[in-house]
Amino acid sequence: MLYHSTNNPSHKVDLKEAILRSLPPDNGLYMPDALPVLSAGFWKTWRHLDFRETGFAVAEAFFGEDVPSAALREIVDGTLEFDAPVVTLAPGDHILELFHGPTLAFKDFGARFMARLMAWLTRDDDRMLTVLVATSGDTGGAVASAFHHVEGTRVVILYPKGKVSGLQEKQLTALGGNITALEVDGSFDDCQAMVKAAFLDRDLSEKLNLTSANSINLARLVPQSFYYIHAARQLPEGVKPVFVVPSGNFGNLTAGLLAMKLGLPVEHFVAATNRNDVVPRFLRSGSYQPRPSEQTISNAMDVGAPSNFVRMQALFGESWEEMKRHVSGIAFDDEATRTAIREVKSLHDYLIDPHGAVGWLAAKAWRAQHPCSATITLETAHPAKFPDVIEAELGPGSVEIPERLAILAQRPKHAIPMKAEKNVFREWLSASLGT
Ligand SMILES: *Cc1c(COP(=O)(O)O)cnc(C)c1O
Repeated sequence: MLYHSTNNPSHKVDLKEAILRSLPPDNGLYMPDALPVLSAGFWKTWRHLDFRETGFAVAEAFFGEDVPSAALREIVDGTLEFDAPVVTLAPGDHILELFHGPTLAFKDFGARFMARLMAWLTRDDDRMLTVLVATSGDTGGAVASAFHHVEGTRVVILYPKGKVSGLQEKQLTALGGNITALEVDGSFDDCQAMVKAAFLDRDLSEKLNLTSANSINLARLVPQSFYYIHAARQLPEGVKPVFVVPSGNFGNLTAGLLAMKLGLPVEHFVAATNRNDVVPRFLRSGSYQPRPSEQTISNAMDVGAPSNFVRMQALFGESWEEMKRHVSGIAFDDEATRTAIREVKSLHDYLIDPHGAVGWLAAKAWRAQHPCSATITLETAHPAKFPDVIEAELGPGSVEIPERLAILAQRPKHAIPMKAEKNVFREWLSASLGT
């Protein structure tokens, strides 16, 4: 399969280039040249397949021409080592729990698949693949965990000293092995600038086989469509779900659209945002006005210029009317989000995180207008990732830290202190990793 840039459909590359480059040189986004559809045979049996079988069928539809079945099966099985269960709060009110992975958020699915696919794509290269990531917290943790122990790869994470939470820092610094953390005496922007400078240094980039684990990488998107099919399968036969997606960069929602294009019966999508409501406004008015992001308590959705918006437009042939037929948008502020956390606890005895709470509000609003609908709200993170917000509403001790995180918290931190200087970083890379 070939991949083209959204900015220039005639710029086509193969799978290896689309994944290892992550971004086309013209700053567009890579899209599959022909969108796959799952066969009628698959849609006859899909309700009887388990998560891994579903994941394999989807992965094969996208990557089957380039990756042999046995290798692809291993990549999928290695990714899906945990489930994505649907829990029902009340009739028609369903939650898809996407936080059962090692770093407690849905980003584990994309990061784990990408790590394994990258390792396979570079299996015959005589050099290690070196992944550089600058992180302000969560993405670095998911990427570090995903590449940990993946053969032929190593990860260098740059994070700003004193600016990530204690638990986040442990997710970056306590793994060891092929994961190296650099504690940069500077800001997140400094970290990003250092990574960028390393990529722009062609000799270094070539010598160390550098790649980025960017969030708009196609290898992170495709595995996110696995769980839409797996979720729909968990509803009674004949029920067409409305998927409600707490959104920031809109990667998760785009993956849902890919699942629909594969043939999944979906009633509708609802994009739920916090006050950063560029897409809900676009859906109402037809006018797209990106703007600087505002800080909220659902901070993983604080995005003012969603990076996957161009992919959504491409999927609907650049037509606003077409997008509106399938996607609605609605936004909620922090006060409503806090109230929802209390309401979900008191009505359903269920702990919901601030991102899922925004989604739950959107689902409730949708069902008020469409009383026969069955909504599936994506719960994108475990509430234990946001203890301050939850405990402010529900009281001290209301969230339990899962064991897999508690264990990591007790491990020692290993980080290399570094000045926020591009040359220092380049020299360190060359001296420590170049062979
Ligand atoms: C990244 C993230 C989101 C936003 O997902 P997008 O794919 O960027 O729309 C929502 N919730 C949580 C917890 C996240 O980590």
